[in-house]
Amino acid sequence: MFVRRRWTALATTSILITAGLFQPDPGVAAPTAPTVTLAPAETALVRVRLADEAQLARLVAGGADLANRPRSRDGHPVADLVLTGRQLADLTRQGATAVQIVQRADDGARRLAESARAAQARTRAGLRAADGVDTLQFLQAYWWTTGGKTFLQAQVATTATDDPDVEITVSWRTADGATGSFPLYRFEDSGEYQYHYALPQPVPGRPVQLTATSSLGGTSRPVTATLWPNATPPPQPAGYQKDFIDAYLTPVDIKARIARLGRQYRDLVDVIDLPNRTQGYRRTAAAYLGDPAVAAVVVESVRFGDQGMNGVQARTVDPGRPNRPLAVRYRDRVLTVSLATDGAGKVTSTTDDVAAAINARQGTRLRATVEDGSAGLPMPVAGPVRLDDGLQGAEVPARPWTVQALRIGKHRDGSRIGVLAYSQEHAREWATPLVTLEFAERLLANARTDAATRELLEQVDVFVIPTVNPDGANYSFHDYNFQRKNLVNHCAGTARDPRYRTSWGVDVNRNYTVGSLFDGYVGASANCLSGNYAGTAELSEAESRNVIDLAKAHPNIRFAMNVHSYGGYFMWPPGAYKADGRVTLPRPSIDESTLFLASARRIVGAIAAERGTVTWPSQTGPVADVLYSAAGNSADQLYYELGIFAWDFEVGNDRWNETTGQWEGVGFQPPFDEAHGESQEYAGGLIELVRVARDHAAARTTP
Ligand SMILES: [Zn+2]
Repeated sequence: MFVRRRWTALATTSILITAGLFQPDPGVAAPTAPTVTLAPAETALVRVRLADEAQLARLVAGGADLANRPRSRDGHPVADLVLTGRQLADLTRQGATAVQIVQRADDGARRLAESARAAQARTRAGLRAADGVDTLQFLQAYWWTTGGKTFLQAQVATTATDDPDVEITVSWRTADGATGSFPLYRFEDSGEYQYHYALPQPVPGRPVQLTATSSLGGTSRPVTATLWPNATPPPQPAGYQKDFIDAYLTPVDIKARIARLGRQYRDLVDVIDLPNRTQGYRRTAAAYLGDPAVAAVVVESVRFGDQGMNGVQARTVDPGRPNRPLAVRYRDRVLTVSLATDGAGKVTSTTDDVAAAINARQGTRLRATVEDGSAGLPMPVAGPVRLDDGLQGAEVPARPWTVQALRIGKHRDGSRIGVLAYSQEHAREWATPLVTLEFAERLLANARTDAATRELLEQVDVFVIPTVNPDGANYSFHDYNFQRKNLVNHCAGTARDPRYRTSWGVDVNRNYTVGSLFDGYVGASANCLSGNYAGTAELSEAESRNVIDLAKAHPNIRFAMNVHSYGGYFMWPPGAYKADGRVTLPRPSIDESTLFLASARRIVGAIAAERGTVTWPSQTGPVADVLYSAAGNSADQLYYELGIFAWDFEVGNDRWNETTGQWEGVGFQPPFDEAHGESQEYAGGLIELVRVARDHAAARTTP
């Protein structure tokens, strides 16, 4: 018999996700949904159960800021979205349900202050449905213990791949005879059946036997669950030094930390200035001339605001006389547009006339665009208004930024195998530089006190870029905490309206050359306002060029880790596929796949050693399988073009809430204690990556 307990209702959709917590499950009292409220103008990161796949498709087509992979369940995808209360209300009216506010937009400043998928092949081949009864095969069955609690995760494939109504149930038995069961949910990606799965399920002890049954009458062979990851790093010796992070770090803080490490450990460190300076924390200065709710023209400086353009004023005036032509003059930092009049002295200029006149006569200094909705309207007498870049970070240098890398090792001459760790391609992922800097400092500090660390730095050449996207990071810290992209605005026309200021920029991790949007791959956008805008061309951005230039300049680099947040993933290529037929970039060879997975287990084991955080087996595997297609991401270029074993972390694993019986998302900027925990555990993971590299090099040089 099936032991139905409240948490059996909790399993949800895909790999990713956690939620789906509030699907009604007949016969089971559903947990009470929390009240999720969001003011219309307020922006937040919200976990939302969508009405259907069509709603998700509309969101994706519209460039929605999807923070995580939508997990589908019973036709209801669950997605983490950055949206306003107004957008949430619209979604709700269309049948969506908000499940959890992960984080609010205004959490950023407060938190800064407070702190000073699996490597299984998709083996549908060979799986054929016999008439009527389907055949079931376990793709994964893993168990682990964390925080004194035991979890079980399973993936099962049915041969009835085209029947969306097949229900699969997994029954388990523990070593001491307890039994239970839980439902699995169908998971499709890009319209293709993948398997059935459930989120990790709490079980009362070590599961010894699992069986799957389906509603078509299929039964699997009984299988034994495998301990995950079943790898333990070498113990840290007494006196091992760690915990070098005590607050979130802005790019200014990171620059200072890099300089300090360079001075303190001269014999072990080079500070490398990367060749492509960024735009800097800067924007053009802009203002609405007129009232955008009625009629207005957007006036914008050609140069950046900090280049003498903040404070420039603009106005329109009524000449007060009949038959006057439209005239534009710029004097003493004031743009004055004298409007045209008719024979009766009535103003006749339209918004289009005014914008065209400014562009024609002051186009080297200023550009003007008719506000979206104001086309052809009479131009009001307005101003003076003050042009401003709107940037709030008073302490942030506005000039172009030199992105830096630390090179750490005893032999920094290319003679040793190289490892590259880089973080914060995405500005809002505040915990990620904490991971790479904790990693760097552990290596350096312990090289003086710990023989094992000294030996690692004898054998391995380590490169660390703590913040790839400092301009975006400055904007995230000081202006808009959900900023993901860089600060380069490639928009044209009405998309340059200041109301879109938080949507500009290029997604650095969609700007690389392999499997890109420009090559026809899925998971990046050509819309400059989209959260995953790919830029104007491959490597159009300084930030992405820096990563590739560093890797190309140091061909000894054979391993790389791209550190992101959040969700708790460990991933490798392929990271992208084409939509039609879901054709991925080439799969790694069997040997390479074996290396990826074996190394991943070691590293996942090292992460777990810090505070018990176990990255789920369902979230360990190729990007395109466990997360989503990410066209033009950096790891794919490093792997396919430069032959580097390139992984990605998504730090910030969902946390099990014993009280509610739910997995909960931690968000991009969790309370600092959580970010600190992430820095410690994933730094441990990076140290294990260095050991993986050392062992790889040793295996190749030892006959
Ligand atoms: Zn990211």
